[in-house]
Amino acid sequence: MNSRQASPSNCDICGATQTLSLTIHNIRHRAHIRRYCTNCVLKQHPGLFCPICFDLHEDSLLAPHHRLMCVRCPSIAHRSCVFPSTTSAESTPPFFCPICLDGNFIFFSPPDRKTGAVDVQSAKVLVAAARIAALSMSKAAAAARFDAERRAREAAVARKRAKEALEHLAEILAREQDEELNGDVSAGGRRRGA
Ligand SMILES: [Zn+2]
Ligand SMILES: [Zn+2]
Ligand SMILES: [Zn+2]
Repeated sequence: MNSRQASPSNCDICGATQTLSLTIHNIRHRAHIRRYCTNCVLKQHPGLFCPICFDLHEDSLLAPHHRLMCVRCPSIAHRSCVFPSTTSAESTPPFFCPICLDGNFIFFSPPDRKTGAVDVQSAKVLVAAARIAALSMSKAAAAARFDAERRAREAAVARKRAKEALEHLAEILAREQDEELNGDVSAGGRRRGA
């Protein structure tokens, strides 16, 4: 029953199997690398793309009056995609994203069994999912780099501490040697003088 224990090429959420048509993407989720199918990538990242044209929302390129947020979930659509005929000044009816309108909605429809052709929407869906996965993995790489840098800094501090300790030890040894030497000299001097 537990899909997570299934083969590693299954989606961690819905258990869908990697096929020629359904790609399983690596996604970073709460510091873990997960495997999500195209549909689940999009369902897990509703705020990152327009559910109508499947363009990704690049950081803050979309002015607030050009976007519409789903009434029920964080999905954000282009206003012009949902209500093409309205101007940005007009108020619009509430927006429900495709998933909130239909619980069984899937973004990616499998290709035609006979021709193997993928429709334009599914092709766009795949691009959106792959780009979200790429963004997520480059964030993961940045996080790993951050960890690596932190560990490198910690290692440098540890090396510096070890070096200082060694230098300290060397100083103490040298001082003791000096004292011994001086002591010997003075003692010897005293002995010689005696
Ligand atoms: Zn899935
Ligand atoms: Zn759009
Ligand atoms: Zn929604």
